[in-house]
Amino acid sequence: MTHGAKVYLVGVGPGDPELLTLKAHRLIGSADEIFVDRLVSQEIRDLFSPDAIVHEVGKAKGSHRVHQTDINQQLIASAAPGKTTCRVKGGDPFVFGRGGEEMLALLDAGVSVEVVPGITAALGCAASAGIPITHRGVARAVTLITGHTSEDMPFLDAALFSANHTLVFYMGLTQVGRIQRELLRRGRPAETPIAIVEHGTTDRQRVVRGELGELSRLVTLHRIGSPALLIIGDVSALTDIVPSRPAWLEELSA
Ligand code: SAH
Repeated sequence: MTHGAKVYLVGVGPGDPELLTLKAHRLIGSADEIFVDRLVSQEIRDLFSPDAIVHEVGKAKGSHRVHQTDINQQLIASAAPGKTTCRVKGGDPFVFGRGGEEMLALLDAGVSVEVVPGITAALGCAASAGIPITHRGVARAVTLITGHTSEDMPFLDAALFSANHTLVFYMGLTQVGRIQRELLRRGRPAETPIAIVEHGTTDRQRVVRGELGELSRLVTLHRIGSPALLIIGDVSALTDIVPSRPAWLEELSA
C-alpha cells in the first residue's frame, strides 16, 4: 500500500498547446515523472518540466509497444508520496483513452488518482474546422464513436441513423469503407455532408469536405493519415468554406 501516493491522469487536448487547461499546464510543467502517449504533440512536450523523467508509452497502431498492463504497473511503481506523477494523454483521458482502465488499476493498488479533463478531439477538431456538432434545426444529438472495433456487425446502433444526428468517428481510418457501407445500407443518404479532419488544431491540420458516398475514396485520394477524425452529418456543410451552401441551409437562414 502506497499511502499518500497519487497519479494525475492529465488530458492535454488535441494538439494546440493553447488548448491546455491551466491545471494541465501547471502539472506537466512541474511533474517529476511523466508517462506520455505517442499522440501528444511536440509543442505540448516542450512544456514538460525540463527535470521530469519522461517515458514514452504510446502505442503505434498495429505494434503495441508497451502493453496496457505494463503501463498500469509502471504507473503504480512510480507513484510515491510527495512526488508528482503524470499520465499524459491526448484529448481527454476518459474519451477512448483507456484512462478508465488506468484509474481502476491505480485505485486497486491503493494509489489515489486525480483526473484532469482535456478537450477531446471531436470538440477541438470541430471548432477548428468551423463545424458546430449540434445546431438548432440541423443536429440535435451527437455521438462520439470508435470506428476501431473487432466486434461483428452490426457495430452501429439504430439510433445513429437519423438525419438530425451528428456522428464523430475516432480511429475510423482503417474501417472507413465499412463505416461508409454500413451507414448507406442503414439509410443515411449518399449526399450526407462529411468532413475529415487530420491533425486537427495543429499547424498541420487538413480538412477535407465531401459527401458520405465518397468518404472512403476521399481518404485514399488525399492520403489521409493518423490522427484523423470523421465527422458525418449535415452540420459538416454549415460553414462558408463550402463553395455552395446547401438549399436547406438557405431555407433555415431565411
Ligand atoms: N483521448 C483522445 C482520443 C484517443 S483515440 C481524445 O479525447 O481526443 C485516438 C483517436 O483520436 C485518433 O485515431 C483520432 O481519430 C482522434 N484524434 C486525436 N487527436 C486528433 C487530432 N489532433 N486530429 C484528428 N483526430 C484526432
